[in-house]
Amino acid sequence: MTIFKNIESLGPLEGKRVLVRADLNVPMAMNDEGERIVTDDTRIQSVTPTIKFLAEKGARVIVLSHFGRPLGIRNIDLSMEPLGQPLANSTRLPVSYINDCIGDEVLEVIDALENGSVLLLENVRFYKEEIKNDTNFATELARNADLFINDAFSCCHRAHASTVGITKILPSAAGFALEKELLILEGVLEKPTHPLAALVGGAKVSSKLDVLSHLVEKVDHLIIGGGMANTFLAAQKVNVGVSLCEHDLIEKASTILAKALSNNCLIYLPTDVIVAKEFKENAQSRTTNTNDVQYDEMILDVGPDTVKTVCKGLEACKTLIWNGPLGAFEISPFDTATVAVALKAGELTQSAGLISVAGGGDTIAALNHAGIANQFSHISTAGGAFLEWMEGRKLPGVQVLLA
Ligand code: AMP
Repeated sequence: MTIFKNIESLGPLEGKRVLVRADLNVPMAMNDEGERIVTDDTRIQSVTPTIKFLAEKGARVIVLSHFGRPLGIRNIDLSMEPLGQPLANSTRLPVSYINDCIGDEVLEVIDALENGSVLLLENVRFYKEEIKNDTNFATELARNADLFINDAFSCCHRAHASTVGITKILPSAAGFALEKELLILEGVLEKPTHPLAALVGGAKVSSKLDVLSHLVEKVDHLIIGGGMANTFLAAQKVNVGVSLCEHDLIEKASTILAKALSNNCLIYLPTDVIVAKEFKENAQSRTTNTNDVQYDEMILDVGPDTVKTVCKGLEACKTLIWNGPLGAFEISPFDTATVAVALKAGELTQSAGLISVAGGGDTIAALNHAGIANQFSHISTAGGAFLEWMEGRKLPGVQVLLA
């Protein structure tokens, strides 16, 4: 098991200035008064135990995050200020805010902080140096603190000043949320309880080629659904009509299928599908064998026989990793297969000890849509970082925290 530097390794915290890299890039919407309000505080909740722990130990807690893509330019619409109150609500601690993340004024405010209090800094991506992992900028950030904690798995695939550069200057460790996520993810892919299944769906195979290529070496069952399955069907000379299909990747898809065969990885492709002539809510649709798709039809979901086969396969599994929906789940009735398999995975998790891990923005939306996200063993809120982890890549923000 990989050992990461954890909070305990940082020694006594009383009076210490501790900079916590959080991911407060949460979904927000404008209310009637024109204020930005948080619509999903999952990421705020996830960093809360670390902040509370540090405050209880008498540290001076300084929270740093990015919000959106300001491209290195100060943009009031992407300010962290509206995140202060939700952070205070979640931690039940007073949270003050300052409109910058580096500089003498920030230092003065930090110096005046009382032990056990929390300060929220301004959006770190207001500085273009952040994403360049600029050493001088990392040094400026480091001046704010004695210790650094990264508690944002979703940012660990980026080698930025606030995830990598700063760790070269300050004693650093993983926060509770990051540590937990790393332990779970390592457990399911590096040392899984077999049989291990991966369900990979979503729109395009191009965005998940590396994921699939890596997974066929690791998993016992690989379930391929969503628009990306069409490219694999086309590789088997199936007519996919006007479905989403990346014809230039047919050869790559064939290579993955061959690799699966030589690795004893059982591939599940749709045997029946739901097709329609229009991509819209309640479009007229029909269920058909995969070999009977007409030239003017598009595949928008996998069919009931495929769902049955997938559910039966999952019954034999001990671990499941899920990324991407099986169909165009935002549009009824093309959510049917995703919902049915999600319900089955939730039920197996609750009643048969299946270890189920899901990640990625659309995946969480799909599982929430099915109403079973809370039945999974672990849901990762990370998008890009979760995918890169599924590709078997070493994440730079994690590498710098190895003990
Ligand atoms: P991704 O971000 O790659 O996980 O893709 C998620 C998107 O894939 C969702 O918006 C789905 O509507 C879409 N999707 C899934 N299956 C299909 C399909 N058969 N045809 C078109 N889009 C699909």
